[in-house]
Amino acid sequence: MISLYFHIPYCIRKCRYCDFCSVPVNETIDGYADALIRELALKKEQYPDETTRTVFFGGGTPTTLRADDLCRVLELANRLFPLAEDAEISIECNPKTASLQSLKTLHGGGFNRISIGLQSTDDSLLRRICRVHSCDDFLQTFEWARTAGFANINVDLMHGLPGQTTEQYLGSLQQVFELQPEHISAYSLILEEGTPLAEDVARGKETLPDPDTVADMQDAGMDALEHAGYLRYEISNFARPGYSCRHNLTYWNNEPYLGFGVAAHSSMGNGTKWYRFSNTDSIPQYLRKIAAGRVPEAERILINTFERMFETVMLGLRKTEGVSYASFSRMFGCDLKNVFAEAIERNRVRALWEPDPERLRLNRRGLDLLNMVLLDFQERNYWDLLKAD
Ligand code: SF4
Repeated sequence: MISLYFHIPYCIRKCRYCDFCSVPVNETIDGYADALIRELALKKEQYPDETTRTVFFGGGTPTTLRADDLCRVLELANRLFPLAEDAEISIECNPKTASLQSLKTLHGGGFNRISIGLQSTDDSLLRRICRVHSCDDFLQTFEWARTAGFANINVDLMHGLPGQTTEQYLGSLQQVFELQPEHISAYSLILEEGTPLAEDVARGKETLPDPDTVADMQDAGMDALEHAGYLRYEISNFARPGYSCRHNLTYWNNEPYLGFGVAAHSSMGNGTKWYRFSNTDSIPQYLRKIAAGRVPEAERILINTFERMFETVMLGLRKTEGVSYASFSRMFGCDLKNVFAEAIERNRVRALWEPDPERLRLNRRGLDLLNMVLLDFQERNYWDLLKAD
């Protein structure tokens, strides 16, 4: 079974920190749902036998498309890549791009999980990062989502925003806890090169909280989330028991997924040959290729066995449950403890592992230092294993 991802590259306007593949809504949006439908048919020819366990419509802002168009795409996806009865079907939504009626249409069309982008409940912060909505807009959208029938809702929040204090961040969390969403994603702002925010910071026109303050925010936020009953299951993701995002777990478990739409990535293969590939990130080119009946692929990379082993560790260690020794051995026919013995030992000396006989998993400090830990795994055995591939 695989997962399906649909990328919708439109937003009302760009947020100042955003480097995702998205543009302000323009006339190309009119043909976009039909293009996704054609791409589904093209990929069905390449992958005729796949069935689906999760679907995710992300962006951009998927709800800039009409709800009935989104449902048409989902309906065809179900026909061509049949969805499991218990499939998780998520859609991202930003306040100001949905109505009660559109959310009812989406829920009636099969979407059973919605992820609402809030980032902060503080209107001055929302304006400062150029979000198109206020906190009240978010509260209205959340209420509509519940009324429309969504029983699995995620709220996105951020910390480390320009001028943000720990008190503001904790205030946002408390306000969100009162709504009792099933899932909260709590991301730290990453200053991406080339964004207006990064340029303003470089010119001294904008300031970010210093790294110690951001670390304090993160720690205080994690304590508050856990106290409110949200279990941390990935670096930035927290859920009530039973509500971890199954689609995102596909990525962190390094399992197969097929992407549709501009800039969508895929990872597909079998035991011996594994490929990662992506669509063009140009909307006009995507639409042109689809109109000509061509798969809009821009890049395809063969992943060798060691790279796949490393990716499995890199992605798996993001989860608090880490990587299961048994599943690694099922995937690769060898022992994780042997392949990465040195890297595991180096980080044992640093006291970054949770004691666990069945899994390799980082403790809270280890999760904070994940990038450093991964450098050890990347070095280890690379050339030997590459030769053996
Ligand atoms: S709504 Fe999301 S995808 Fe769109 S510009 Fe803002 S951060 Fe980027």
